[in-house]
Amino acid sequence: MANRELVVLGTASQAPTRTRNHNGYFLRWDDEGLLFDPGEGTQRQMLFAGVTASQITRVCVTHFHGDHCLGLPGVLQRMSLDRVAHPVAAYYPGVNAAVFGRLRQASLYYDSLTLHEHPVDSDGVMAETPGFLLEARALSHLVPTFGYRLTEPDGRRMLPGELAARGIAGPDVGLLRRSGRLAAGGRVVTLGEVSVPRPGQRFAFVMDTRLCDAAFELADGADMLVCESTFAAADAALARDYGHLTAGQAGQIAAAAGVRLLVLTHFSQRYETGPAHRLRDEAAAAFGGEIVVAADLDRIPVPKRAPAVR
Ligand SMILES: [Zn+2]
Repeated sequence: MANRELVVLGTASQAPTRTRNHNGYFLRWDDEGLLFDPGEGTQRQMLFAGVTASQITRVCVTHFHGDHCLGLPGVLQRMSLDRVAHPVAAYYPGVNAAVFGRLRQASLYYDSLTLHEHPVDSDGVMAETPGFLLEARALSHLVPTFGYRLTEPDGRRMLPGELAARGIAGPDVGLLRRSGRLAAGGRVVTLGEVSVPRPGQRFAFVMDTRLCDAAFELADGADMLVCESTFAAADAALARDYGHLTAGQAGQIAAAAGVRLLVLTHFSQRYETGPAHRLRDEAAAAFGGEIVVAADLDRIPVPKRAPAVR
């Protein structure tokens, strides 16, 4: 099991189909688990995917159209049922806090979950941990919508050969990493001599939106971009009218933002039949990088970091 991977729980937009559940995504990121946009049926999809309620540490909702949030009542109640002991953070458009409240209390149950609500009112940093910065940006949809981005801080990768050549081992490695220099073998060794830059990994989540600056900002330099691509180019007028992207526009975003892996999802039911490669081909016309057309229960590792250079 990769320690950073996307588990796809559902890939349908407005209406689920025989092969696609409503939206839902679980991002495993080291010891954190972020659940994005749990649509109807998410709890059962988690069971199929081997994701447990206790693995969720944060819930991020882009907006309150049903396909992005009707799974919340079930998932939140399941966390109580399973006696999830750790606190869970929830992020959602603050202007619709009342909707979140109704979903949380949609039916009667014993609520034992420690849920910290973080309504998102404007662009900015929502959380900072040693592993990532979680940021939100307002997108352009029919209702208030925020996209999310995880950015790991840049670090340095230690070079075992260089360390050994200078006789540095054990706790001294951590000391050198923290202080930047260490007396060893009668001289001062600097961190730069024994390590190379390690760029932090980035994950971006862009859901229901028209093309807008925020979508490009969220995607900037992402190792993995999960992007809605509700429509094909032939239905571009529908995309415009309903505040959605075409697969080609998702490709445009990925290309301009220098994305490494583009995950297309949130498909209209109208493409349930027909050539499966259509949306991929349209995105690929704009984006030369790797593209995955997401299917329910896919597990997609966050791409390994590009090799570091000295
Ligand atoms: Zn929507």
